Amino acid sequence: SNSKTYRGRFAPSPTGPLHFGSLLAAVASYLDARAHHGTWLVRIEDLDPPREDPTAADSILHTLDHYGLHWDEDIRYQSTRSDAYNDALQQLIQQQLAFPCACSRKQLGNQLHHGICSTLQTSDIAWRFLCPAGQLRISDTLQATQTYELAADIGDFVIRRRDGLWSYQLAVAVDDADQGITHVVRGIDLIDSTARQVLLQQALGYSSPIYSHIPVANEANGQKLSKQNLALSLSTEKAADTLWLALAWLKQSPPAELRGVNVTDLLTWAIANWQAEVLIGLTSMPAPGDFQRQL
Ligand code: GLU
Repeated sequence: SNSKTYRGRFAPSPTGPLHFGSLLAAVASYLDARAHHGTWLVRIEDLDPPREDPTAADSILHTLDHYGLHWDEDIRYQSTRSDAYNDALQQLIQQQLAFPCACSRKQLGNQLHHGICSTLQTSDIAWRFLCPAGQLRISDTLQATQTYELAADIGDFVIRRRDGLWSYQLAVAVDDADQGITHVVRGIDLIDSTARQVLLQQALGYSSPIYSHIPVANEANGQKLSKQNLALSLSTEKAADTLWLALAWLKQSPPAELRGVNVTDLLTWAIANWQAEVLIGLTSMPAPGDFQRQL
């Protein structure tokens, strides 16, 4: 791709410290951006205070810095972006693509939501995006093209919650567009969110970035690594060693002699030798032993 226009990002939610799984997404998005002589941004997705740890954002930034993953431009905090999200909501309302909804989770059960509600209630309402009919196909540089039957797979999804919080989908669509993000490299656990984000981009007249979903790191038993597990949090003392393990996990084949040397030399090597293609078609791989749950 064109090096002048590459803008990538790492967008952690500050629910806890950086762990091995989120380090992989940070490293892959960083290397892909740097290998394209692109810009790499960090965006803190602090949209959901009840689920956040007030110390997590600083801890994540400190860890990124310690691992040599230096970002360009100012950090963006989504907590400061309500006006922009509200503008997007108002645009969707004007286009009759957003509607108020008082349906409770209980009422919906396992059903997807379809069609505008008849409610006239004005407080405690969520806002939903009116999902169009038809099919959506999304290509990915690493994964098979995803095909969604919109009515069956997506339905009308919440963009502003009844408690007034903005949904992750709306915030990401707005900020990726506003920040001029051209390439999104992130974990495959988010691949189904891509459909919702692309629908919002199309409705709001934004262009869509190129998506690359990397595999997720699993426990030996195949379960997803849990964020809560402290055994998985990253030590800053062993940053060079952990970074080497992350590169090996990403199938970059880091040379043995660079193991544990220092993060700067390791990242310089990794940028020069970055090959995203080796991850094509991979959806999950076990994490290195040290980062799995200690039973
Ligand atoms: N904030 C999201 C998360 O930590 C990721 C957002 C993204 O990369 O699109 O799960």
